[in-house]
Amino acid sequence: MSETPTFVTHLECSETGKHYAADTLQGLSEAGKPLLVRYDLEALGKAVSKDDLVRRAPEFWRYREFLPIRKAENVVRLGEVMTPILPAPRLQSAMGCGDILIKDEGRLPTGSFKARGLALAVSMAKELGVKRMAMPTNGNAGAAMAAYCTAAGIESYVFCPEDTPQVNVREIALQGAHTYLANGYINDCGRIVGEGKEIMNWFDTSTLKEPYRIEGKKTMGLELAEQMGWDVPDVIFYPTGGGTGLIGMWKAFAELEAIGWMGSKRPRMVAVQAEGCAPIVKAFEEGSRHAEPWVDAHTIASGIRVPAAIGDFLILDAVRDSGGFAIAVDDDAINAAQEECAKTDGILLCPEGAATLAAFKKALKSGQVSKDERVMLFNCATGLKYPMPEAGGFIDLNKPVDYSAMG
Ligand SMILES: *Cc1c(COP(=O)(O)O)cnc(C)c1O
Repeated sequence: MSETPTFVTHLECSETGKHYAADTLQGLSEAGKPLLVRYDLEALGKAVSKDDLVRRAPEFWRYREFLPIRKAENVVRLGEVMTPILPAPRLQSAMGCGDILIKDEGRLPTGSFKARGLALAVSMAKELGVKRMAMPTNGNAGAAMAAYCTAAGIESYVFCPEDTPQVNVREIALQGAHTYLANGYINDCGRIVGEGKEIMNWFDTSTLKEPYRIEGKKTMGLELAEQMGWDVPDVIFYPTGGGTGLIGMWKAFAELEAIGWMGSKRPRMVAVQAEGCAPIVKAFEEGSRHAEPWVDAHTIASGIRVPAAIGDFLILDAVRDSGGFAIAVDDDAINAAQEECAKTDGILLCPEGAATLAAFKKALKSGQVSKDERVMLFNCATGLKYPMPEAGGFIDLNKPVDYSAMG
């Protein structure tokens, strides 16, 4: 990889289009909006072919020409495997629908797809000489940042809402981050990071407040297209918090079309949220381009408990341009979908992943998705990181084991 040039030309404000220099540390644009990485796609398309990819290791660094890192020695590795696309045949026949494909992101380091974004953000931070990083998190992003920072020799500070799942808080701390809980939401934690910048001299790695997490999440779009023979599903259900993955995949598809690897076909992008925190769904239904902050956000799907997303307009633009929609499901439907998928096809979804299944079922019923469409659901983390219902019959070894009583 050391000899591979990158094709980055500049960073661009996602709202005004103003250009900013690459290869310097950047946060938001002057307009306070996310910056997007732009590439010389013509040169990129000439430098790499689909066949070149086939010969590379099955990890997301195989898309290095599409990524911004200049020096191989700055790539921080913890085993960034390509994640499988699982079929769910029994669920499919029970639901009487077309192909259900589950992209299982729980296989990534730290057990969630946050590893994609943070592997990139931390590698770029290393390349640009950052010594200390900070972020607010509902759990998974903080765990990924802690792990990659520690692997990179960068100090990390992570701030969580006090009701963040304990397993996340503990894994973050165990992987080396200075870890704090605050009695507020993720946005309040974001304020701690923002306001502490001067005093603490840390780099703000909040969702979309630096340009590179999107580039990492973009690899989901590149990867699923390659795995599907440079095709895309008809519909993608994506559990949407900050929206990095949805925005990143949408960017990936545009770049693939620009270099001629894919046609103009796009999946309909569906933003899935929880009824207890659905700012994007509300904005979609009202026809707005920006979402109002959600008051009193609550859901068991902590990864999508994001009351205000700075990239709201990028999410809503992608959803609308794709002909998709935004949809909310309640926690009971999430729990039921998780149990159904686990018991039907042996796939343990995380609550956010289960939300996509619940949303798909709801959309099938309402006719927003038809039975012949090929659907991809995103399971963004391993279900093992979350609390599960109590289970297990008791066997008293002081008595003979009663096999006849076993179900
Ligand atoms: C962060 C997270 C999400 C939301 O992802 P975004 O790209 O930020 O919208 C969904 N599910 C899980 C498990 C997460 O950790």
